[in-house]
Amino acid sequence: MTEAAATAHAIPEEIATLAPERDLFSKFDALIAERQALLDSGVRDPFAIVMDQVTSPTQAVIRGKETILLGTYNYMGMTFDPDVIAAGKAALEQFGSGTNGSRMLNGTFRDHVDAEEALKEFYGADHAMVFSTGYQANLGIISTIAGKGEYIILDADSHASIYDGCAMGNAEIVRFRHNSVEDLDKRLGRLPAEPGKLVVLEGVYSMLGDIAPLKEMVAVARKHGAMVLVDEAHSMGFYGAHGRGVYEAEGLTLDDDVDFVIGTFSKSVGTVGGFCVSNHPKFEVMRLACRPYIFTASLPPSVVATAATSIRKLMHATAKRERLWANVRRLHAGLVALGFELGTAQPDSAIVAVILKDQQQAVMMWQAMLESGVYVNMARPPATPAGTFLLRCSLCAEHSTAQIETVLERFAQAGRAVGAIA
Ligand code: PMP
Repeated sequence: MTEAAATAHAIPEEIATLAPERDLFSKFDALIAERQALLDSGVRDPFAIVMDQVTSPTQAVIRGKETILLGTYNYMGMTFDPDVIAAGKAALEQFGSGTNGSRMLNGTFRDHVDAEEALKEFYGADHAMVFSTGYQANLGIISTIAGKGEYIILDADSHASIYDGCAMGNAEIVRFRHNSVEDLDKRLGRLPAEPGKLVVLEGVYSMLGDIAPLKEMVAVARKHGAMVLVDEAHSMGFYGAHGRGVYEAEGLTLDDDVDFVIGTFSKSVGTVGGFCVSNHPKFEVMRLACRPYIFTASLPPSVVATAATSIRKLMHATAKRERLWANVRRLHAGLVALGFELGTAQPDSAIVAVILKDQQQAVMMWQAMLESGVYVNMARPPATPAGTFLLRCSLCAEHSTAQIETVLERFAQAGRAVGAIA
């Protein structure tokens, strides 16, 4: 380090001498110590992986090693689709690299509108609103639609973006037990009848890969006069006849049952961005009231152009859907046969969660998998339910049978090495 750089990084004296109770970082000491203890035990940091090269939807180079990607949300393998890439390149060249502005002012370009048109076609919806991320779509819609004196009723295992949308708004928040129709009914029944209510559900819960009994839940919500929002982030493209999500697979519609579907471009669509579709006649007012839509820059033109192309291709991706489900069944059955405890008894979604004993075993297993050339996600509380440590595998339509076989062999070796299986 040069002398100038050393001086620039020196802790100013007045901060170095701050009493611990006045140093705002003191509250993170436990987190810092926990991470350090993990690294001191000789494992790699599972939250600091760098993909040096990505060569296909299922293959990357990590620290010089060819690695099978089994921990991305690239369910439909659209990231390297030639039409998607061509659309992004053309938009980059025609419209430049960014928009420099909000959707509300100078940040709506041709392809933002086209991506919204593609979403309306995909969902058969009257309205579609594109946000800069799925996180912001939940944050924006949830915090805006339910106001002071109204109620949001959400599943206890909801995604962080749903919780953050609740925290940002002014509605009263009520949680019900994960996937419990009875508890939802009971809690709705205790609320005053008059105020507006929003029930927030997810089609697929992303940690264990379990699906919601949406049909029963929507019936209960409607019985109590509540509106319904379903986050279908982890089902778009391969659930339901048109790939619209679990709600479609369960025979629910945007006309009668579900008021808002939230989704993301960061999973099956293969880029980045978020959206909400709705058939409510007043939905467009959200563009004037929703702060996470208004007070942030819109997506780059290349991103929305890739999204629009990808969404339209997903409408006809029957063969990919079938390959994805075949891969899910193959991996799920293989892991069950090896003796692993999984998040779901059946292959219910494209997420197959391998449950491990504790953090130590999960990290050891994660590292053994990575060293053998397979990347999976390690997940732990607070992202997972309390006390649950797991390796989350997410399948891609483009995984080959040979790759799944390799993954199963590596799971067998690593599982025996860390004592997760006999
Ligand atoms: N909802 C759910 C259920 C998610 O799992 C995620 C991201 N993992 C999001 C919303 C946020 O999506 P994005 O990555 O587009 O911000």
